[in-house]
Amino acid sequence: MKQKRETICVQGGWKPGNGEPRVLPIYQSTTFKYDSTEQMADLFDLKADGYFYTRLQNPTNDAVAQKICELEGGVMAMLTSSGQAANFYAVFNICEAGDHFVCSNAIYGGTYNLFTCTLKKLGIEVTLVNQDDSEEEIQKAFRPNTKCLFAETITNPACCVLDIEKFARIAHKNGVPLIIDNTFATPINCRPFEWGADIVTHSTTKYMDGHATQVGGAIVDSGHFDWEAYADKFPGLTQPDASYHGLAYSKAFGKEAYIRKATAQLMRDLGSIPSPQNAFLLNLGLETLHLRVPRHCENAQKVAEYLQANEKVAWVQFSGLPSDPYYALAQKQFTNGQSCGVLCFGLNGTREQAIKFMDSLKMIAVVTHVADARSCLLHPASHTHRQMSEEQLREAGVQPDLIRLSVGIENVEDIIADIEQSLALI
Ligand SMILES: *Cc1c(COP(=O)(O)O)cnc(C)c1O
Repeated sequence: MKQKRETICVQGGWKPGNGEPRVLPIYQSTTFKYDSTEQMADLFDLKADGYFYTRLQNPTNDAVAQKICELEGGVMAMLTSSGQAANFYAVFNICEAGDHFVCSNAIYGGTYNLFTCTLKKLGIEVTLVNQDDSEEEIQKAFRPNTKCLFAETITNPACCVLDIEKFARIAHKNGVPLIIDNTFATPINCRPFEWGADIVTHSTTKYMDGHATQVGGAIVDSGHFDWEAYADKFPGLTQPDASYHGLAYSKAFGKEAYIRKATAQLMRDLGSIPSPQNAFLLNLGLETLHLRVPRHCENAQKVAEYLQANEKVAWVQFSGLPSDPYYALAQKQFTNGQSCGVLCFGLNGTREQAIKFMDSLKMIAVVTHVADARSCLLHPASHTHRQMSEEQLREAGVQPDLIRLSVGIENVEDIIADIEQSLALI
């Protein structure tokens, strides 16, 4: 029987057998013992399934990956040591030197640097597009060597909502998969596979963990993309891998090919594995994801309405406000129309006044984090996005005066009272 998201949050992944621990154990072991040389050799040849070294796979990590896989409705998933590693692996698994991909220009600053600077040094080129442009306009960015399309369900920090169906149509017309970073929406509010996405990534550091205790990431494959149908375009998946005695992932593993390759090849060689201890902490967070996310959204809705009605506030971007340009899309694509607990706003006044407002808050902290239980805020132009010029900021939908507020799960009256006392000072 297919279980509901709430049940998967609590019980997905770890399935204890008779006499085994009810709670997911932490397999804090780098290595696993076998009775014969041959058994170990079969594991190395990918002929048999099993654990031999934690850099490749670990039972605690796999149980948590399985829970995230079930939540997203995918066929296979893996954990990584950060969201950055997840997005790097997701793209690098199908792009190599000489390849190209297309990406929304409104993505998270860390991903922006990874894609435009670091991947460029590896010989992989990216073209950034405005995700609100028409299909015809976005189509112009595609080339014969384009290997994927990438975007975020809800952009960090500008809170733009992506039309996933539109992006899926564009990707599939060009014979490439759509990769979606679903960090802000979480599978509680949106399952991108239901709207045509092929691969989903997460920074589990945010709502999934929810308590700001571990940095982590995840990649989930829907199993929908037919690599064999575009065999020439994706030789890494469809042609023999010399580092595995000529095994071809698509032939050996079918729908699991993409994650199998990312594990057997990228994780083996690059090693961005989370510690089992961190996977355990992530699992604790996931057990209450379905309770926390709706509360974040309810609180954010009330804060957004308060800010919108305040004369000291110039503008608010939150897709739960009927006046928001993404309101209709959010109603269609998200559970109960709810996006996430993050919203953006700008103040009427100078930059100094904005800084005074942020520094005068008593409970809401200025921290480089987002999407955890405690309310916090950040000024992207002087923090996460400080490498970008004013022009690049505007292109990414980040106004220089934009304040990103991550509404926590405290009592919303206390959150609003803190904002109110600080606004009164400017
Ligand atoms: C934070 C974040 C990342 C990067 O994740 P880390 O876990 O910090 O490496 C990627 N994408 C989005 C949307 C994020 O918010």
